[in-house]
This record gives sequence, structure tokens and C-alpha cells, in this order.
Amino acid sequence: MNDAVNRTAGNTVTRWPVSDAAAGAILTVDLVAIRENYRRLKAKLAGVRCAGVLKANGYGLGAAQVAEALASEGCDIFFVALLAEGIDLRRAVGAGPEIYVLNGLPPGSEPEAVAARLCAVINSAGQLKAWREAARGAGRALPAAIQADSGMSRLGMAPAEVAALAGDAGAFDGIDVRYVMSHLACADEPRHPANEQQRLAFERLRAMLPRAPASLANSSGIFLGSSYHYDLARPGAALYGINPTPGEPNPMLPVVRLQAKVAQTRSVEKGAGIGYGHTYHAQGPLSLATISFGYADGWLRRSASAAWFDGVRLPFLGRVSMDSIILDISALPPGRLHEGDLVELLGPSQSVDDAAGHAGTIGYEILASLGSRFHRRYVNE
Ligand SMILES: *Cc1c(COP(=O)(O)O)cnc(C)c1O
Repeated sequence: MNDAVNRTAGNTVTRWPVSDAAAGAILTVDLVAIRENYRRLKAKLAGVRCAGVLKANGYGLGAAQVAEALASEGCDIFFVALLAEGIDLRRAVGAGPEIYVLNGLPPGSEPEAVAARLCAVINSAGQLKAWREAARGAGRALPAAIQADSGMSRLGMAPAEVAALAGDAGAFDGIDVRYVMSHLACADEPRHPANEQQRLAFERLRAMLPRAPASLANSSGIFLGSSYHYDLARPGAALYGINPTPGEPNPMLPVVRLQAKVAQTRSVEKGAGIGYGHTYHAQGPLSLATISFGYADGWLRRSASAAWFDGVRLPFLGRVSMDSIILDISALPPGRLHEGDLVELLGPSQSVDDAAGHAGTIGYEILASLGSRFHRRYVNE
């Protein structure tokens, strides 16, 4: 379904993604599971609106495909990080949904945002002024969310900036303030005192800003209780199957399966040096498989150090190369694994959170790092 071929001047240029047969690795994205995860979050939110966060190409899984799946569940508000992502997403989803650009609009880019009918997230008084001027130029009010910094010190107006605006009568002229928002720094640690401090700071900031619906919770914020829900939640990770309640059972369905193809198998004798730098030597005779998958596919060199086949763990040996990894397959019956077989890197045997745990990172980084060379399969039913 995704075999995209671009013909130019008689030459056929194969574009990624390719076919299953041609690919070195296959990424399967379960859109049915994403839809179910959206419904589970909606149930938890009990009537509060729920957006979808699609930054970084939908956490590496395909913003356009995820948006379409969420739209079919009635989701009509999306968040991206960058203006360029917003422009792409607008082309994919058509005119209907609201699309907010979380990082704010770079100075001078406002006309492009207006042309794509994007909503600005306003993070500073300077951005507010630029959006006001864009509204004057466009001859109509322009939609925005005002982001205030309630204690993460990353994006959004500082409390002093908000207070100064409160005394400036014309500050919001021409701005259609659809939301007042802020972001939680520690929502995945429910007992962290910063959560309640940020919520209270958000209350004080809202009181100084134009009256508008409010938004505070990301995925984990939804699980902090209804006092964090306000009028709109902004989950990303939980939609993609990352556990929003670390340390507790994952309330979400897994979404991603990543499989790599065996490029070659071989046997080596005791003492054989394995991979770049010979960082590993065979302690005895070994059966090996080399898979077409490496750090150029976004598998961080320090990431989870095993693949799986038939429920059997196949450890990586030696260094991860750019395009390949050597597996010890000695635990499988001889001759069981062949060229072209698929081994699992993410899926039922190793979840995104498992892989992240082995690598000392978070599921977000595993997904956002996924490369562009895979054949991508989208499961729709
Ligand atoms: C990334 C992001 C989200 C989504 O966070 P998750 O933890 O993935 O649910 C929500 N709001 C803002 C401002 C973000 O940057």
C-alpha cells in the first residue's frame, strides 16, 4: 500500500518506504490500537476534550496516518512542535482540524502560519505582538493558545511577563485566544510536589490572562486526577503505547512492531573476532545471524541489546554497525533461522518501554529516533 515510486525524466527513483521484499526492516504501526488508546484516554477524561500530539512526525510513527486515525475517533485538534510540521500536517488533514505550533512561530514566519491556517502557541510578549500585527495584516482575528510557564522554565511566558500584559489593554487585540495552556515537568511522577505547585501557579497565571478554556495535562497528566484535566488534554506518548504511569501496569495498548531481516547466517569457531574493533571474541563455537538494521536506523548504539525470534532471546554480539548487527543465534535449533527471516526488535517480546529501560532512556526517545529506511505497514482493521 505504501510502495511509492516517483518517475522523473524516464528514471525510476524508488522512495522510502519500499516493499516488504525490498526492505531491510519493517515497522508496523497499529492504527487500530492508537484509536483504542485515544478512546481509553477519552474515557479517563470523562467529557473533557482530548487533542492528539503529533510532533516529530507523530513520535516517529507517521503524523498523517496517526492524524487520520484520530480524526476518525472525532479528534479535531492537533499539536505539533514546529511550523514546518504544521504546514505538512495541514496538507495531510485538510482544512477542518485546529493545528497548534507548540514551539511558537519563528520571527518573520507568521504569514506562512496564516496561509496554512495554523494556530500560534504564543510563548512571549514578542510573539504576541508579531501575531497581533499578522492579524492586522490579514484583516481578521487570528487563533492562538497563550502558553504560560508554570514552573518548567522551557517554553511560555514567565509570570512577570503575564502580569505586565494584564495591565496592557490592547495586548490581545486581534487575537482569538482559544486556550490558555501550560506544561507539566514531572507528571510521570505522581507524588512529585512540582505537580501541585505547577497546577496552583497555572491557576494564578490564568487569572491574569484573557478568559479562555484551559489546557495543562499531557499523557501522564491525565492520570494525575481530574483537577489536572481542565478543558483540553494534550496526550502524545500514551496514544503511541508508551506507559503514562511508569512503575504501574501500562493502561495503553502497544502500537509498534519493529522487525529486521536476516541478511546472512554463519558459524564461527572459538576465538573468532566479532564486529568492528573485535570488542567480542567467541568463547566457543557460535551460530551467528547478521541483520539489516543498525544505528542508521535510529537504534542507538547503547539501546536494547537483543532481538527475539520464536520467543527466544538473541543477544547482540560486538558493536552495532551503521547498517547491521550481529546476533548470537546459538540458542535456536540449528538451521532454524534463514536469510530473509524477520527477527523482532520491538513488539510482543520487547516493548518500547522495555527497550528504553535496557538503554537507560525513555520510550519517547526510542520512538522519535526510529529511522526512515523501514518499510512501514499501517494496520487499519
Ligand atoms: C510533547 C508535549 C505534549 C505531549 O506529551 P506526552 O508526554 O507525550 O503526552 C503535550 N504538551 C506539550 C507542550 C508538549 O511539548
